Amino acid sequence: MTASLIATTAATARVNLLGMTQQQLEQFFLDLGEKKFRAQQVMKWMHHGGVTDIGAMSNLGKALREKLLQIAEVRPPEIVSQHDSTDGTRKWAVRVEGGGLVEAVLIPDGGRATLCVSSQVGCSLDCSFCSTGKQGFQRDLTAAEIIGQVWLAIKSYDAFQSGKGRVVTNVVMMGMGEPLLNFDNVVAAMDLMLSDLGYGISKRRVTLSTSGVVPALDRLRELSEVSLAISLHAPNDALRSQLVPINRRYPIAELLRSARQYIDAQADSKRVVTVEYTLLAGVNDQPDQARELAVLLKDFPCKINLIPFNSFPGSEYRRPSGNAVSRFWQVLVDAGYIVTVRTTRGDDIDAACGQLVGQVVDRTRRSERYRAAGQAPEVETG
Ligand code: SAH
Ligand code: SF4
Repeated sequence: MTASLIATTAATARVNLLGMTQQQLEQFFLDLGEKKFRAQQVMKWMHHGGVTDIGAMSNLGKALREKLLQIAEVRPPEIVSQHDSTDGTRKWAVRVEGGGLVEAVLIPDGGRATLCVSSQVGCSLDCSFCSTGKQGFQRDLTAAEIIGQVWLAIKSYDAFQSGKGRVVTNVVMMGMGEPLLNFDNVVAAMDLMLSDLGYGISKRRVTLSTSGVVPALDRLRELSEVSLAISLHAPNDALRSQLVPINRRYPIAELLRSARQYIDAQADSKRVVTVEYTLLAGVNDQPDQARELAVLLKDFPCKINLIPFNSFPGSEYRRPSGNAVSRFWQVLVDAGYIVTVRTTRGDDIDAACGQLVGQVVDRTRRSERYRAAGQAPEVETG
């Protein structure tokens, strides 16, 4: 009786090595009385080789493998479904422990492929236009579940052996959840994205998006060098507090101060913050509001990414017309900003990642629209 209880406990409490940073894994092996270079060997198997079977990690030695099999495992999250769009976008629904579902989307675009990764099941911040927020918060993803989304994207293309997973060139933390509210796990997973023993992605090509958890952003600048996107969505506090409730605690001036300090802390002085601005018809998409935004962001080192609202059932908002988008865009361009308009891909498979990606804007219609505006905007996918 007692023996079987212990066995059960051991089986369910196995530590998942997939989400451990190099430092954590080295400590794990030291605690086992092993040499710390074992961490590097295991990381290469998992992240470069895509191997989950500890028994197959042949350079570990039989005794160590047997010991590890008792206490550890390499467990990526489980794919529930995978859909391919005709434009090459691939979307996964991923089941995490305890039964929750999150989404990851890979969006190829020329030479690059951007993976949109979730950080939480649901979200507690309840932005008024976000369907993840409407679900409420269920739980944080573990570091293994976050990095596991990168792992399974590469695995699904059978691309582990063919060059360090170049299937994923960019990662955006813009799926479900607020990454800064799952701080330690997100920082660990981003460490693995950047690490040479992980996925070797350049720090400029990993982007964390936050709605403005200022104290956590202040902490992040001590620990991380990834690119930063802030979800602004309004040119003043009165409107932003309605759309993004956390603004009532950390208003725009504090968010901009923290974001500026974040990029000022980076060694590379050319970096800028991406300002995300979801356009909601009749709410925040008026030319006056674009002018107010241009004044607000004066001298703030940024580029602006306009995201036409992606509607979902039960939502009170509407997506602005193409003309409204281009008018808003034009005001900002005339004020000297670099402005991209995010389009969605994978429309035929409903590849909205969380809710960030809107519907595919038909290319013909879009080019006509921007010709009407006299200039073509840069278009950013992801
Ligand atoms: N929680 C983080 C990251 C996930 S959301 C954040 O809020 O930044 C990623 C981006 O998609 C954010 O800018 C978010 O405001 C935006 N977004 C959420 N719902 C949207 C919708 N229905 N249409 C368009 N953009 C949306
Ligand atoms: Fe959460 Fe971001 Fe959605 Fe706001 S927009 S509810 S912070 S996921």
